[in-house]
Amino acid sequence: MEVTHSGQVVYSAPISKGIILLRIKLTQPESVYFKAGQYLAVLLPDSEKASYYSIASSPNRKGEIELLVKEDKLGVGSVYLYSLKEGDSIQLHMPMGEAYLREDSDRNVIFVAGASGASYIRSMIHYLDESDHLAHREVHYFLGCREEDELLESDYMHKLAKNYTGFHYHPALSHQEDWDGHTGLITEVVDRIMPNDMSKWQAYSAGSPAMVKAVADLLIANKSLEKNYFFSDMYTPEI
Ligand SMILES: Cc1cc2nc3c(=O)[nH]c(=O)nc-3n(C[C@H](O)[C@H](O)[C@H](O)COP(=O)(O)OP(=O)(O)OC[C@H]3O[C@@H](n4cnc5c(N)ncnc54)[C@H](O)[C@@H]3O)c2cc1C
Repeated sequence: MEVTHSGQVVYSAPISKGIILLRIKLTQPESVYFKAGQYLAVLLPDSEKASYYSIASSPNRKGEIELLVKEDKLGVGSVYLYSLKEGDSIQLHMPMGEAYLREDSDRNVIFVAGASGASYIRSMIHYLDESDHLAHREVHYFLGCREEDELLESDYMHKLAKNYTGFHYHPALSHQEDWDGHTGLITEVVDRIMPNDMSKWQAYSAGSPAMVKAVADLLIANKSLEKNYFFSDMYTPEI
């Protein structure tokens, strides 16, 4: 795969349990044009292999990008990205993907993420916030994790929900007892909260392929979402 951009790591630190935030300053060329929700390939040194990561930062920041990388001690890409330190260089191919934010659509938005799938949603929410789109839109964000310390940027999401009457944040935990928020499968929480007629909505989802398929099945078959308005780079609905 061809290198489109070279960069230099300027920051690497944990952002939530088991996930690091890697900030990369672009050096050659010095900027990138992409749409919120797209992804890239990290080219691994001395290897033909590439690993794929959502671009987690907003496209307004053209000179640098952020990745959120889940720790996976058996994953070659994950081990490589965890080994990088400030000043190290990195080779990338970007942008890629069709599941980007349709910002010209005035449909309401539902985001559904499982664990590290929150990386894909992060870029779109930061972009909507910066572009002042949240002031006149209904946006629901469902994030399913096992435990509270895996939730990504919860303080920021709660702040958005306080500032914008149309923004709703619904974290749900599957493996924590001392938690008085939503529990159980994220699809059950979505089913309980969202209306039965979602024919005028658009949906974006990332997580395990099984979760994304379950979300698509629920929204399209049970809640009348038009299948052309379900976006995910990991799964294309067939119904
Ligand atoms: C569009 C897209 C966007 C994505 N965005 C993100 C993101 O933002 N953040 C993120 O963290 N991930 C993201 N992913 C997922 C990420 O690409 C995968 O986790 C990928 O497998 C990581 O590559 P790797 O080189 O680390 O793993 P690989 O080395 O390719 O391994 C693949 C899987 O096999 C397992 N494995 C390898 N060897 C063994 C073994 N001997 N025994 C058992 N299991 C083994 C690894 O644990 C790993 O889960 C995204 C994927 C796609 C397609």
